[in-house]
Amino acid sequence: MKYISTRGLSPALSFSEILLGGLAPDGGLYLPETYPQFTDADLTRMRGMQYADLAFAILSRLIDDIPAADLKAIIDKTYRAEVYAYTRPGQNATDITPTLKLENNLYLLCLSNGPTLAFKDMAMQLLGNLFEYVLAKTGKTTNILGATSGDTGSAAEYALRGKKGVRVFMLSPNKKMSRFQTAQMFSLQDENIYNIAVDGVFDDCQDMVKAVSNDAEFKAKYKIGAVNSINWGRIVAQVVYYFKGYFAVTDHNAQHVSFSVPSGNFGNVCAGHIARMMGLPIDKLVVATNENDVLDEFFKTGVYRPRGSANTYHTSSPSMDISKASNFERFIFDLVGRDSSKVRALWATVDVGGAFDIKPLLNKLPDYGFVSGSSNHAHRMQTIRDAHQKYAVTIDTHTADGLKVALEYREVNIPMIVLETALPAKFEDAIVEALGALPSRPAALNGIEALPQRFDLMDFDVTKIKQYIVDKVS
Ligand SMILES: *Cc1c(COP(=O)(O)O)cnc(C)c1O
Repeated sequence: MKYISTRGLSPALSFSEILLGGLAPDGGLYLPETYPQFTDADLTRMRGMQYADLAFAILSRLIDDIPAADLKAIIDKTYRAEVYAYTRPGQNATDITPTLKLENNLYLLCLSNGPTLAFKDMAMQLLGNLFEYVLAKTGKTTNILGATSGDTGSAAEYALRGKKGVRVFMLSPNKKMSRFQTAQMFSLQDENIYNIAVDGVFDDCQDMVKAVSNDAEFKAKYKIGAVNSINWGRIVAQVVYYFKGYFAVTDHNAQHVSFSVPSGNFGNVCAGHIARMMGLPIDKLVVATNENDVLDEFFKTGVYRPRGSANTYHTSSPSMDISKASNFERFIFDLVGRDSSKVRALWATVDVGGAFDIKPLLNKLPDYGFVSGSSNHAHRMQTIRDAHQKYAVTIDTHTADGLKVALEYREVNIPMIVLETALPAKFEDAIVEALGALPSRPAALNGIEALPQRFDLMDFDVTKIKQYIVDKVS
């Protein structure tokens, strides 16, 4: 299987060749040349598989340049019950992504039982093990540089801590993350993890990362890498749990299900799109946004209008606070019939801060199952209270956005599965506001705020971060 760029001007590469990179050299995103197809007989065989076996059945069709036995070992090491242990009482951690029935034909797919209590662990843990394998094989090293407002940085650090050949330099805005998120990251004592608290906001951190990455000479000399949401390895790992969720709530392959996905950068729901293209019987893919509704606007009007960071709202579902949806180009590539010249033309305006309008293609959207909706703070609070009262389940603010929009698209006899993208313990303040009480927290994480913290403070200064990297690497 070769991977091609959505912009069509970069050579096709194998999985391992794109694993450590980000954008293709032509500015596009990588996608498989063709989507492998799962037949009715395949689905029947996969039904009932344990998570790791299911992951191997899917990923081995997309990754053909890692020997099958090695890939199997990497997957088995990643998807173990001990890694995804923070299940609710009564759930079985060996399911890795257990489903929780809310009522007839309405389910949560619990994706947030990993070490950092958000769905990003599902992909990042695999990426960490793949990185270690590929680096060891090629004798290379990498220095991952990233900016985080919480979820991505912690998931990356827990996936890469202690890994050979990798250092992680993670910038976060000083005193702007929740106490829990700060404690999760800063309490890590691993030597290859560097937490840098920047005197500024998230956008300042991101600007520093961009400035370093734009210095091609520095980037090459110090082997600067990234694990951001456009990484194909992350998308591909996320495809697996759509299959797992489908099998969990159906008993034969003629049944269809819908998924509702709390969305920001379009990475999670893009994996759902790919699962559907591979033959998984998905009826609807519900794109749920918060007040930052650039995706909802597109799916309703055909206009894609990124907002810019000055027009991005800070909301109570902060991991969905995006100005543009970095993975969206992958879907548009399929929507325009994989015509890369069309994608280039559309992004020629987007890349300089503009918008595009493809209204004439709106009638094609039903072929892909996409629908959308948005949610705001009041909706989230109400949805959290409703779920608590009706189903005795506490959900986090992001999952609440997903549930709120899911309820607008339910159909008789089609199970609706809402992806749970974080556990409520991660966003305690919002839960206290909605329910008047703290959410429960996995016992192993009690008191993490009191652990010794390891981080360095830094001004908003590109020279300083470069010097910091130079010092630590040499
Ligand atoms: C990252 C994140 C999202 C958004 O996922 P995308 O793949 O960027 O669309 C939603 N909820 C939570 C809790 C997240 O951490």
